[in-house]
Amino acid sequence: MSRNNGQTRVLVTGASGYLATHCVQQLLDDGYLVRGTVRNLSNTKKIKPLHELRHAKERLELVEADLTQPETWPNAVANCDYVLHVASPFPVVADDSVVKIAVDGTLNVLKACAKASSVKKIVLTSSCASVNEGHDDENRIFNEDDWTDVNSPKVLPYSKSKTEAEKAAWDFVENGITVDENHFKLTCLNPTLIVGPVLMDTQGTSITVVRRFMNNEMPAVPALQLALVDVRDVAKAHISAMTNPKTDGQRILVTAQPSYWFLDISKILAKEFRHQGYWLPKFQVPYPILWVYSIFDSQAKQILERVNRKIRFDNSKAKELLNMEFTNPERSLIEMVYSMIERGILPKKSGYKPAQLDKEPHNSHL
Ligand code: NAP
Repeated sequence: MSRNNGQTRVLVTGASGYLATHCVQQLLDDGYLVRGTVRNLSNTKKIKPLHELRHAKERLELVEADLTQPETWPNAVANCDYVLHVASPFPVVADDSVVKIAVDGTLNVLKACAKASSVKKIVLTSSCASVNEGHDDENRIFNEDDWTDVNSPKVLPYSKSKTEAEKAAWDFVENGITVDENHFKLTCLNPTLIVGPVLMDTQGTSITVVRRFMNNEMPAVPALQLALVDVRDVAKAHISAMTNPKTDGQRILVTAQPSYWFLDISKILAKEFRHQGYWLPKFQVPYPILWVYSIFDSQAKQILERVNRKIRFDNSKAKELLNMEFTNPERSLIEMVYSMIERGILPKKSGYKPAQLDKEPHNSHL
């Protein structure tokens, strides 16, 4: 049911991405006018799923904009009331080039908003990667007071890009807007690894991680732990932060609990999918083998620092300020895989049976 008067326009940057498509869908369902940016309007594979969203015909408009092209943002933000800045480079293995694109891109969006009098607030998708990386006491529980130490050699380019982009945004809001420009509010959200149903057909990092469990791409799993959060919860957090003044000027971790080892994730998926014909890894890779492998493989090298490390975040601020009740990530993982099979990202094995999940509750107050 529509909760909006159909007059409020929200810009979603990187609209065709995994998280952004859920933001667009929830905004459309809530009755907002939505403008989404994409890099190339003639890229049918990315655009078609957006046109297929509920209410897209009535209220979704797409425009081209690129983080690396400052001149594309004034038109994109024009006449928007709110901006969800979700776009950021997020390749599976990132090199240092992502830092400049994320920082400059964020500033390009924010600078355009400072010149557009209509924009009241920006919600920026940061990440837990800008909270807990590069610390010696890395097993402690991290909260919003913590920042990734970008000077640590352990910190990977993606984490650096998210940390630097978030810091640049806070600095711009505090020091970069002149008196006669538009002083919009900012909230930064810091999700952990996002999982849950897929509404698009391309494969970003979350989808690649889960695909590897299901598709015979990992003979055994590394001893890695992940904090997870449902994609619908992250989208909901963006939309509620947008109009919630209590979140102005706040960064907020968005994560369910507890964290899961890769082997736990494999067991959760195996329980649902092994009898349907999907092979899932049963064992953990011993550290020395991973170390040797990392000499030859850049992805193994990037994860070596994280092996055997516990990941723990405090999600009380999201519960308090945004009233979040987090979906059980076990359910999100299973729904994600069913959606990946239905969209052809994973093969339909002969024993496959479509999901029968609809009647169960999504939230389990985690
Ligand atoms: P995604 O599917 O890869 O989406 C990223 C989006 O950013 C895509 O729409 C992409 O556009 C856009 N983008 C990248 N470079 C761009 C550029 N130069 N100009 C314009 N747009 C550009 O990834 P996602 O998982 O949805 O991530 C969305 C946001 O959440 C990112 O900011 C990411 O850092 C953050 N995040 C994600 C997770 C997670 O687990 N997935 C966790 C924490 C935070 P194209 O489609 O044209 O490439």
